[in-house]
Amino acid sequence: MLLDHNSCYQALVTRDPRFDGVLFVGVTTTGVYCRPVCPARTPRRERCRFFANAAAAENAGFRPCLRCRPELAPGAATIDSATRIASSAAQRIEAGALNEAGIDDLAAEFGVSSRQLRRVVKRELGVTPTELAQTQRLLLAKHLLTDSALPVIEIAFASGFSSVRQFNALFRERYGLNPTSLRRSQNSETVKEMLTIELSYRPPMAWPLLLKFLADRAIPGVESVEAGRYSRAVIISQSRGQSRGQSRGWIDVERAGHENALRVNVSLSLAHYLAPLLSRVKNLFDLDAHPQLIEARLGEDERLREVVKRQSGLRLPGAFDGFEMAMRAVLGQQISVAAARTLAGRITEAFGEPIDTPNPKLNRVSVSAARLARAGASDLTRLGLTGKRAECLVALARTVAEGEAPLEPGVDVEATIERLKQLPGIGDWTAQYIAMRAMRWPDAFLHSDLGVRKALGETSSKRILEIAESWRPWRAYALMHLWNSLGQTQINSDSRIRREITEKTE
Ligand SMILES: [Zn+2]
Repeated sequence: MLLDHNSCYQALVTRDPRFDGVLFVGVTTTGVYCRPVCPARTPRRERCRFFANAAAAENAGFRPCLRCRPELAPGAATIDSATRIASSAAQRIEAGALNEAGIDDLAAEFGVSSRQLRRVVKRELGVTPTELAQTQRLLLAKHLLTDSALPVIEIAFASGFSSVRQFNALFRERYGLNPTSLRRSQNSETVKEMLTIELSYRPPMAWPLLLKFLADRAIPGVESVEAGRYSRAVIISQSRGQSRGQSRGWIDVERAGHENALRVNVSLSLAHYLAPLLSRVKNLFDLDAHPQLIEARLGEDERLREVVKRQSGLRLPGAFDGFEMAMRAVLGQQISVAAARTLAGRITEAFGEPIDTPNPKLNRVSVSAARLARAGASDLTRLGLTGKRAECLVALARTVAEGEAPLEPGVDVEATIERLKQLPGIGDWTAQYIAMRAMRWPDAFLHSDLGVRKALGETSSKRILEIAESWRPWRAYALMHLWNSLGQTQINSDSRIRREITEKTE
């Protein structure tokens, strides 16, 4: 079992989908067992028994829940992977995977046939992949009709429909309305060069802390943080690793102010990729987090109580682009955050495609794994990287470009960490850090980190792991609290915080 009783219960209370397929809960009073995402009311702690797989729950005499249907995800590896496939496929569909490419391509990402994918998704989620995609498109279209000034024809395409006729027909069928009836009268103004979307979050939100973290690591030319606003140049495609459909543009993100939401301005050039774009923005700013529940848990430890209170609303900074984030993690080994940023800027200038944006600070898109995979280590040492770091980066780029280590949420975290650690120059610290940010694994933990040692006043990694047991499954949030507790100046400039101390040396 990956987690203890208390951690499992915390995961259950938040219904965090990241734990789906990782644990199952048996309720002693009803004799029924569930997935952590079950919509049924959360049972009391003392009535729960936790299992690593459905088979174990059945062995203990529990019957499968009829609502969340865990019987379809028993312990056998092949079926267990079906759960993962279904939930990852749902994430990919939410990100627009079926808008450009077909179901065959999506199935190929998981190494199954389209028939198998359809069956697994239908069984697990109760709807077919196509129905899931249609619902996502309709919801996005509804949002745009109500809150944007984009013409209906543009909204149809931006939401992922392939024709206006299809859009109108499905809208009428599902909602019994004409799309135009949702338009607000004040939206008759002409369209500007951008779209504005609001993404809500659960309060509180420590926006300045999050922005500070991103500002310190912003890649020159690609990202900029100014006056409470995060901006970046964007290149985006629909299908993982495929470049047949691609768009370039920019986004700005700031607090909406009046409510618990972020306001995202998107250049019109990216309108056709709105679904994947918004899913990346949610990842970057950790918008799905349940801060109150996480803080209640972490605050039970007196080592964290004060700092958690002071930094209430802290988010786990994610990644807009998994490879970009991993590249920065490698560059940051043994040097300061500022020095890593300089190197990332040089690499971007050398290998990133130029782009025109209204913001003079944004003039390059992020370097792709495919582009860096074609570079030689000597191209990188010329930019100031050490030989080992250059080799590590090229190896990482090749692995990612070949699809061997997908750096995004919803992937098999343990397998991807293991794959990363096989690369020269990537040890547990870097792999966990990438898991925490690019894969958004909330229980990732850097037990050997010097900043953590300093914040806890402990030198033994073993002891630190023991202390962190009670923070599970939110160890990554505890880590961010500890880093921040070291003080603004230290987290910005103290190279020791980012230093890798357990990396392979050969
Ligand atoms: Zn259930």
